[in-house]
Amino acid sequence: MGRYTDAVCRLCRREGMKLYLKGEKCYTEKCPVHKRPVPPGMHGQGRRKLSEFGVRLREKQKLRRIYGVFETQFKTYFQQAARHKGVTGVRLLQLLETRLDNVVYRLGYATSRKEARQMVLHGHVQINGRKVNVPSYQLKPGDVISPTARGKEHPRVKELAATGLRTLPSWLEFNAERLEGRMLSLPAREEIDVPVAEQLIVEYYSR
Ligand code: SF4
Repeated sequence: MGRYTDAVCRLCRREGMKLYLKGEKCYTEKCPVHKRPVPPGMHGQGRRKLSEFGVRLREKQKLRRIYGVFETQFKTYFQQAARHKGVTGVRLLQLLETRLDNVVYRLGYATSRKEARQMVLHGHVQINGRKVNVPSYQLKPGDVISPTARGKEHPRVKELAATGLRTLPSWLEFNAERLEGRMLSLPAREEIDVPVAEQLIVEYYSR
Protein backbone atom coordinates (compact mmCIF):
# COMPACT_ATOMS: atom_id res chain seq x y z
CA MET A 1 0.00 0.00 0.00
CA GLY A 2 1.30 3.43 -0.95
CA ARG A 3 1.36 6.54 1.18
CA TYR A 4 -1.97 8.36 1.56
CA THR A 5 -2.10 11.12 -1.05
CA ASP A 6 -5.68 12.46 -0.73
CA ALA A 7 -6.44 15.61 1.29
CA VAL A 8 -5.34 14.80 4.86
CA CYS A 9 -8.11 16.92 6.36
CA ARG A 10 -10.55 14.24 5.17
CA LEU A 11 -8.92 11.90 7.69
CA CYS A 12 -9.82 14.24 10.56
CA ARG A 13 -13.37 14.59 9.28
CA ARG A 14 -13.62 10.80 8.99
CA GLU A 15 -12.58 10.44 12.65
CA GLY A 16 -14.77 13.38 13.69
CA MET A 17 -11.94 15.17 15.46
CA LYS A 18 -8.77 17.16 14.92
CA LEU A 19 -5.75 14.90 14.39
CA TYR A 20 -3.39 17.87 13.88
CA LEU A 21 -1.90 16.63 10.61
CA LYS A 22 -1.31 19.96 8.86
CA GLY A 23 0.68 22.06 11.27
CA GLU A 24 -0.27 25.72 11.52
CA LYS A 25 -3.59 25.41 9.68
CA CYS A 26 -4.85 23.10 12.43
CA TYR A 27 -4.78 25.98 14.91
CA THR A 28 -6.79 28.37 12.74
CA GLU A 29 -10.43 28.92 11.82
CA LYS A 30 -9.67 27.37 8.41
CA CYS A 31 -9.60 23.89 9.91
CA PRO A 32 -12.33 21.87 8.09
CA VAL A 33 -13.29 20.09 11.32
CA HIS A 34 -14.79 23.46 12.35
CA LYS A 35 -16.09 24.40 8.93
CA ARG A 36 -17.55 21.03 7.87
CA PRO A 37 -17.90 18.81 10.94
CA VAL A 38 -19.34 15.79 9.06
CA PRO A 39 -17.59 12.74 7.59
CA PRO A 40 -16.29 13.22 4.01
CA GLY A 41 -18.16 11.94 0.99
CA MET A 42 -21.63 12.58 -0.38
CA HIS A 43 -23.27 10.30 2.23
CA GLY A 44 -21.24 11.72 5.10
CA GLN A 45 -24.17 13.22 6.92
CA GLY A 46 -26.28 10.08 6.79
CA ARG A 47 -23.85 7.63 8.44
CA ARG A 48 -25.38 4.80 10.45
CA LYS A 49 -24.37 3.81 13.97
CA LEU A 50 -21.06 1.88 14.05
CA SER A 51 -20.90 -1.80 14.94
CA GLU A 52 -18.65 -2.93 17.82
CA PHE A 53 -16.05 -3.92 15.25
CA GLY A 54 -16.41 -0.54 13.54
CA VAL A 55 -15.77 1.33 16.80
CA ARG A 56 -12.55 -0.62 17.39
CA LEU A 57 -11.45 -0.23 13.79
CA ARG A 58 -11.96 3.54 13.91
CA GLU A 59 -9.94 3.78 17.13
CA LYS A 60 -7.05 1.89 15.52
CA GLN A 61 -7.22 4.03 12.38
CA LYS A 62 -7.30 7.22 14.45
CA LEU A 63 -4.11 6.32 16.34
CA ARG A 64 -2.35 5.15 13.18
CA ARG A 65 -3.22 8.37 11.39
CA ILE A 66 -2.19 10.62 14.25
CA TYR A 67 1.33 9.18 14.10
CA GLY A 68 1.33 8.72 10.29
CA VAL A 69 2.29 5.06 10.41
CA PHE A 70 1.54 2.43 7.73
CA GLU A 71 -0.75 -0.48 8.50
CA THR A 72 2.00 -3.12 8.50
CA GLN A 73 4.30 -1.04 10.64
CA PHE A 74 1.48 -0.32 13.06
CA LYS A 75 0.76 -4.04 13.41
CA THR A 76 4.45 -4.66 14.11
CA TYR A 77 4.32 -2.06 16.88
CA PHE A 78 1.29 -3.83 18.31
CA GLN A 79 3.03 -7.22 18.25
CA GLN A 80 6.07 -5.70 19.93
CA ALA A 81 3.82 -4.14 22.59
CA ALA A 82 1.97 -7.43 23.14
CA ARG A 83 5.28 -9.21 23.85
CA HIS A 84 6.11 -6.64 26.52
CA LYS A 85 5.40 -7.41 30.18
CA GLY A 86 3.41 -4.23 30.88
CA VAL A 87 0.00 -3.07 29.69
CA THR A 88 -0.12 -3.65 25.92
CA GLY A 89 -2.10 -0.49 25.03
CA VAL A 90 0.20 1.77 27.02
CA ARG A 91 3.32 0.12 25.59
CA LEU A 92 1.92 0.63 22.09
CA LEU A 93 1.51 4.34 22.78
CA GLN A 94 5.02 4.55 24.23
CA LEU A 95 6.51 2.95 21.12
CA LEU A 96 4.74 5.47 18.88
CA GLU A 97 5.47 8.42 21.12
CA THR A 98 9.21 7.71 21.30
CA ARG A 99 9.67 7.57 17.53
CA LEU A 100 12.21 10.15 16.43
CA ASP A 101 9.78 12.03 14.15
CA ASN A 102 7.27 12.39 16.98
CA VAL A 103 9.91 13.66 19.41
CA VAL A 104 11.14 16.19 16.83
CA TYR A 105 7.53 17.41 16.59
CA ARG A 106 7.07 17.46 20.38
CA LEU A 107 10.25 19.49 20.83
CA GLY A 108 8.88 22.12 18.45
CA TYR A 109 11.36 21.76 15.58
CA ALA A 110 8.35 21.12 13.33
CA THR A 111 4.67 22.06 13.37
CA SER A 112 3.38 18.60 12.43
CA ARG A 113 4.63 15.03 12.54
CA LYS A 114 4.69 15.01 8.75
CA GLU A 115 7.00 18.00 8.67
CA ALA A 116 9.14 16.39 11.40
CA ARG A 117 9.45 13.24 9.30
CA GLN A 118 10.67 15.32 6.34
CA MET A 119 13.26 17.05 8.52
CA VAL A 120 14.60 13.71 9.74
CA LEU A 121 14.66 12.23 6.22
CA HIS A 122 16.56 15.27 4.95
CA GLY A 123 19.26 14.82 7.56
CA HIS A 124 18.43 17.84 9.73
CA VAL A 125 18.43 15.96 13.03
CA GLN A 126 21.08 14.24 15.12
CA ILE A 127 20.98 12.04 18.20
CA ASN A 128 23.84 12.18 20.68
CA GLY A 129 25.87 14.05 18.05
CA ARG A 130 25.29 11.55 15.21
CA LYS A 131 23.03 12.25 12.26
CA VAL A 132 20.03 9.91 12.06
CA ASN A 133 17.71 10.00 9.05
CA VAL A 134 15.28 7.27 10.08
CA PRO A 135 11.93 8.74 11.26
CA SER A 136 10.95 5.53 13.08
CA TYR A 137 14.20 5.46 15.10
CA GLN A 138 13.27 4.52 18.65
CA LEU A 139 14.61 6.92 21.26
CA LYS A 140 15.48 5.90 24.79
CA PRO A 141 15.84 7.84 28.05
CA GLY A 142 19.04 9.91 28.08
CA ASP A 143 19.16 10.47 24.31
CA VAL A 144 19.95 14.03 23.23
CA ILE A 145 18.22 15.33 20.11
CA SER A 146 19.46 18.41 18.27
CA PRO A 147 19.53 19.92 14.77
CA THR A 148 22.55 19.21 12.60
CA ALA A 149 24.56 22.18 11.26
CA ARG A 150 22.27 22.21 8.21
CA GLY A 151 19.23 21.70 10.42
CA LYS A 152 20.04 24.91 12.31
CA GLU A 153 19.46 26.76 9.04
CA HIS A 154 15.99 25.25 8.57
CA PRO A 155 13.32 28.00 8.77
CA ARG A 156 11.32 26.15 11.45
CA VAL A 157 14.37 25.72 13.66
CA LYS A 158 15.25 29.40 13.22
CA GLU A 159 11.68 30.26 14.13
CA LEU A 160 11.94 28.10 17.24
CA ALA A 161 15.19 29.82 18.23
CA ALA A 162 13.56 33.23 17.80
CA THR A 163 10.16 32.63 19.35
CA GLY A 164 10.75 30.00 22.04
CA LEU A 165 8.92 26.79 22.72
CA ARG A 166 5.61 25.10 22.46
CA THR A 167 4.45 23.37 25.65
CA LEU A 168 6.69 20.39 26.35
CA PRO A 169 5.56 17.07 27.79
CA SER A 170 7.20 16.37 31.15
CA TRP A 171 9.24 13.41 29.83
CA LEU A 172 11.24 15.77 27.59
CA GLU A 173 13.42 18.76 28.40
CA PHE A 174 14.77 21.44 26.13
CA ASN A 175 17.82 23.68 26.31
CA ALA A 176 16.76 26.77 24.36
CA GLU A 177 20.30 28.20 24.14
CA ARG A 178 21.70 25.06 22.53
CA LEU A 179 18.42 24.16 20.77
CA GLU A 180 18.90 20.72 22.28
CA GLY A 181 16.27 18.33 23.59
CA ARG A 182 16.70 15.39 25.94
CA MET A 183 14.47 12.45 26.65
CA LEU A 184 14.22 12.14 30.41
CA SER A 185 12.11 9.00 30.76
CA LEU A 186 9.60 6.83 28.99
CA PRO A 187 6.28 8.70 28.86
CA ALA A 188 3.57 7.47 31.23
CA ARG A 189 0.06 7.12 29.79
CA GLU A 190 -1.11 10.40 31.36
CA GLU A 191 1.80 12.21 29.68
CA ILE A 192 0.69 11.12 26.19
CA ASP A 193 -2.04 13.51 25.09
CA VAL A 194 -3.55 11.48 22.27
CA PRO A 195 -7.33 11.11 22.56
CA VAL A 196 -7.66 7.39 21.94
CA ALA A 197 -9.02 4.48 23.96
CA GLU A 198 -6.06 2.15 23.49
CA GLN A 199 -7.91 -0.78 25.06
CA LEU A 200 -10.24 -0.80 22.05
CA ILE A 201 -7.19 -1.18 19.79
CA VAL A 202 -6.00 -4.14 21.86
CA GLU A 203 -9.47 -5.65 21.45
CA TYR A 204 -9.36 -4.98 17.72
CA TYR A 205 -6.21 -7.10 17.33
CA SER A 206 -7.46 -9.79 19.77
CA ARG A 207 -10.63 -10.55 17.81
FE1 SF4 B 1 -7.12 18.03 10.73
FE2 SF4 B 1 -5.43 20.06 10.77
FE3 SF4 B 1 -6.91 19.63 8.60
FE4 SF4 B 1 -8.00 20.54 10.85
S1 SF4 B 1 -6.50 21.58 9.55
S2 SF4 B 1 -8.81 18.94 9.56
S3 SF4 B 1 -6.82 19.44 12.42
S4 SF4 B 1 -5.32 18.28 9.44
